[in-house]
Amino acid sequence: MTMTFLLTEEQLEFKRSVRRFARDKVAPRAASIDEQSDFPRDLYQLLGNQGLLGLTVPETYGGSGGDLIAACLAAEELGRSSGSFAPRVGVATMIAETIIEGGTPEQIERWVKPIVNGECIPAIALTEPEAGSDALSLQTTAIKRDGGWRIDGTKRFITNADIADVILMLCRLGDGGVDGFGAFLIEQGTPGIEVTTVYPKMAGAALHACEVAIDGAFVSSDSLLGEGSLPVGFIHSMSKGRLIVSAVGVGIAAEATGVAARYATERKQFGRPIMKFQGISFMLADMLTKVEASRALLYEAAAIYANNPERGAGFASMAKLLSTDTAMEVTTDAVQVLGGAGYTKSFPLERMMREAKLLQIYEGTNQIQRMLVARHLEQWNETLEDA
Ligand SMILES: Cc1cc2nc3c(=O)[nH]c(=O)nc-3n(C[C@H](O)[C@H](O)[C@H](O)COP(=O)(O)OP(=O)(O)OC[C@H]3O[C@@H](n4cnc5c(N)ncnc54)[C@H](O)[C@@H]3O)c2cc1C
Repeated sequence: MTMTFLLTEEQLEFKRSVRRFARDKVAPRAASIDEQSDFPRDLYQLLGNQGLLGLTVPETYGGSGGDLIAACLAAEELGRSSGSFAPRVGVATMIAETIIEGGTPEQIERWVKPIVNGECIPAIALTEPEAGSDALSLQTTAIKRDGGWRIDGTKRFITNADIADVILMLCRLGDGGVDGFGAFLIEQGTPGIEVTTVYPKMAGAALHACEVAIDGAFVSSDSLLGEGSLPVGFIHSMSKGRLIVSAVGVGIAAEATGVAARYATERKQFGRPIMKFQGISFMLADMLTKVEASRALLYEAAAIYANNPERGAGFASMAKLLSTDTAMEVTTDAVQVLGGAGYTKSFPLERMMREAKLLQIYEGTNQIQRMLVARHLEQWNETLEDA
């Protein structure tokens, strides 16, 4: 890794150390994470031991006290090894920060350190059958009762809802939404909450996409995060989540480009390495160019976000959009470069192609990111002037 104008030597050393960890511990498990339904609890604990589940969480709360760039560097390197598992670092960090920002001292004390050190697996439940991209049309309702809240509704595609120790669940408060939204910290095993379906899916079988039925579940008053209104930290965490997903996309695309380029220099047809054919070398040139462009935008976006989260949100959307589209395009082309071998499980590329697809769908689909970027253009003359 050479020094770039974007990263300091210290940041590059951190990136190298996560790469070593990911190659040693995560990469050997990537195929089983893809194919086997068992969540790799031990590997998740290792992420916690390495300080990778609370990278931007201040040290006083048990986190690593790093900045957003560090979190993206880690996600990029983990993404090279397993595009399904790597986003977990973002989810844990996002939930821990939301609790720090909006929670009571008791909630912070109870949940943050265990989430950050890997003892407690968190899940986040926003999506519903009728509220996907239009997330704030959610219908799961929490009604105030003596000493707590009664919750009813359905959540869909909630990653690891079946194994999580705590679920951060977004609900509509009061009757008919008059009181806005609230986030609840709900413990696994709460009566009235049941995982009804675990959806078989394209990749990452170890990450469980769950449908959750909530039928008259009663949770105590101290389950509601903070004072009740949607914590600002939650809104901010969505942009941070997009940056982490963007970083995973960069990692997948970079790794796929490397695998394809190495293969193209070794594989011979018509008496020469296929790299010597312009049809292949131009494809690889385009792949590398897209990786570098995506990476540059990601770290630019993370830096802008760190200084100005309001403006940075638009950049986070641009980064998520570009690098996850890049991951999809580049992995598809990488499979093509390897021909029949690329389609087999002898190489990781077909898995990476399937992993890349999800990145275009969650944390807001890429159509929704385009909407957010367009909105950003309307709001930020500064961006237009700098463009
Ligand atoms: C494997 C997996 C894991 C997930 N994990 C979680 C989780 O842990 N927690 C959680 O809360 N959610 C999770 N999700 C849900 C995910 O965030 C949603 O699937 C996503 O936001 C899209 O919602 P939807 O699937 O309902 O699609 P829809 O909103 O129905 O969209 C369908 C299509 O229409 C497009 N579309 C919608 N509105 C517009 C518009 N205004 N303009 C243009 N196009 C539009 C979309 O881009 C998409 O292409 C997960 C999803 C998957 C697949």
